[in-house]
Amino acid sequence: MTSSIVKTTCPYCGVGCGVDAKLENGNLIAVSGTTDHPANYGKLCVKGSSLHETVDHEGRMLTPMLHGQPTDWDTSLAYVSDKMKAIVAEHGPDAFAFYVSGQILTEDYYVANKLIKGFIGTANIDTNSRLCMASAVVAHKRAFGTDTVPGNYDDLNHADVVILTGSNLAWAHPIVYQRLANAKKQNPSLKVVVIDPRKTASCDIADLHLPLKPGSDAFLFNGLAHHLIAHNKLDDSFLANHCNGLEAIQQTVINQTLQQTAQDCDLTEDQINHFYSLFANNERVVTLFSQGINQSSSGVDKGNAIINCHLLTGKIGKPGAAPFSITGQPNAMGGREVGGLANQLAAHMDFKKPEHIDRVARFWNATNMAKNEGLKAVDMFDAVADGRIKAIWIMATNPVVSMPDADRIKAALQSCDLVIVSDSQAMTDTSQYADVCFPATTWAEKDGTVTNSERFISRQRGYLLPPGDAKHDWQAICEVAKRLGYEEAFNYENSADIFREHAALSGFENDDERDFDISLLSQISNAEYHNLTPIQWPVNTRHPNGRSRFFDDGRFYTADRKANLIAVQPRLPTYTPNSGQVTLNTGRIRDQWHTMTRTGKSARLLEHIASPTVQIHPETARQQAIANNALVKLSDRGISYIARAEITESVRADSLFIPMHWNDMFASHARANSLVRPISDALSGQPEFKHSPVTITPL
Ligand code: SF4
Repeated sequence: MTSSIVKTTCPYCGVGCGVDAKLENGNLIAVSGTTDHPANYGKLCVKGSSLHETVDHEGRMLTPMLHGQPTDWDTSLAYVSDKMKAIVAEHGPDAFAFYVSGQILTEDYYVANKLIKGFIGTANIDTNSRLCMASAVVAHKRAFGTDTVPGNYDDLNHADVVILTGSNLAWAHPIVYQRLANAKKQNPSLKVVVIDPRKTASCDIADLHLPLKPGSDAFLFNGLAHHLIAHNKLDDSFLANHCNGLEAIQQTVINQTLQQTAQDCDLTEDQINHFYSLFANNERVVTLFSQGINQSSSGVDKGNAIINCHLLTGKIGKPGAAPFSITGQPNAMGGREVGGLANQLAAHMDFKKPEHIDRVARFWNATNMAKNEGLKAVDMFDAVADGRIKAIWIMATNPVVSMPDADRIKAALQSCDLVIVSDSQAMTDTSQYADVCFPATTWAEKDGTVTNSERFISRQRGYLLPPGDAKHDWQAICEVAKRLGYEEAFNYENSADIFREHAALSGFENDDERDFDISLLSQISNAEYHNLTPIQWPVNTRHPNGRSRFFDDGRFYTADRKANLIAVQPRLPTYTPNSGQVTLNTGRIRDQWHTMTRTGKSARLLEHIASPTVQIHPETARQQAIANNALVKLSDRGISYIARAEITESVRADSLFIPMHWNDMFASHARANSLVRPISDALSGQPEFKHSPVTITPL
């Protein structure tokens, strides 16, 4: 018997834990946390520790499919490339789109972006990361000049106060939560504040929970800015030397008094005062924010309202002091590095700057470089629905379940001339609408890199052979690219080739001190790439071993190197419930990931919560005569969702909570996001998943 251990990375959330995969005779028999990985130091959550239960081949897509029939790669690739050529020739490049995923590896992301932006000639590539952190990206850019995450997980060990806002860290990012719980154990004076309409599992270690009115976060943080100004808690020196916009903030928050904030947020003045005092009177504060902030029609403003408070007090760029957007997906950050959003170019370059477009085009020897931003996720599927987009390639994501107004996605795909789905699973809610399916490799087979929430680039290593005819996503893209006539630009031998090119592009003519490159990794050999240990982006001559913290030098990436305080006018969600309606909040549960195509395979993970549920406050249940565990129907606009009632005081009486994971493969009327209206933040394009008005009735 031969046994070995392969060091790889968990494919689920943005924590990015290192995983030791234990093999016997070439089979995966167990997983454990990598003890020297900087994200998790040997720990795994229940999802990560169940990875070995999900790698069987049951349900896998093993051959390409053309119009529902098995076929071979040559036939399906010829069909796709011929159709794409014809569509682009007749309707132009903007008739094609990619909808990809924060699950794919940086190398996959890179070639998809290169093909569509550099050769097809459109920036119509967006990703399900749009649903996860796009608002934080824009908030960073407005405040810092660039999309930069300032801090790291170790800041939790140095903080006096940690604020979780719009984050159920205990379930959505369990290992960071464990790190926080451990930090509190080591330092009992560390205070944890949870700001969330729901009383979540994260409240178990909270010293203060603020169950604010849904969507009122920016009122609360503007109120904090008012408090800091009124109580002379500003860092005057930091503001004078490193920030612009103080006057505008002072004007904006002048009426956001304690009394007004209590009213706006439906909290008591004592609750708010307690929070404000903790923030104002402690030097080292970390504010972790996630989907509860980002998934909002004013998600960017909410992010900036948080960042403002850190800038006003100089609580940034120091150990234990940072606003910290924690990403949902394992490689949302890698996608940001390669420009994996419709409004970005590679290496954090920008469509708004012609010199950036030119720089990328010259590096790629692009034959048809996109000149403008493309369509963001919700707009992209609107364009599919109304026929502007005639061909879409969906990769490693399941938008018929995960997009807002998800039924509309079905209709859009049904009407589309060419739908290509790359997936490891044969039957998903989305693959049913595909003209062509490409069988894709998945975790344990894929080989490349991912970047986690604290910017660590880690290797995800392929150690099992792809089953059947499955190919890596980058291979499928390159095969299509070659058939479109771009042989030379897509002639990669392996993922290391792609990574080196990505690293080289990040440093190409990059002398403008943006410091956003990993150019030092552009010369690594195949063996060095294979053995790459986690390293924190960026990696260049200034930071050869990576950079753990940004803005420690007080210099931001704006023209004058000062951060921008952004005057935010808080807004409530676009749709507020009418009489008889309540606000629906959708989110994750502890043991499932996304649309369950992988975690749904593990019987152990299904034990936690086995079927769709609705959390209902006892008062709402009483009014509707709903008993615990009874089946209930949520409805809006003729769309319904059916689930079992879980009566609990952990939700407010004006709200419901449902998990977003279930899909029609498990049960009908179980797609939570079909109820979500397709309203997005105008700046980020991120949909408002957290605030949909619905009616609840017993079934
Ligand atoms: Fe995987 Fe996230 Fe759990 Fe870590 S915390 S093991 S990355 S799911």
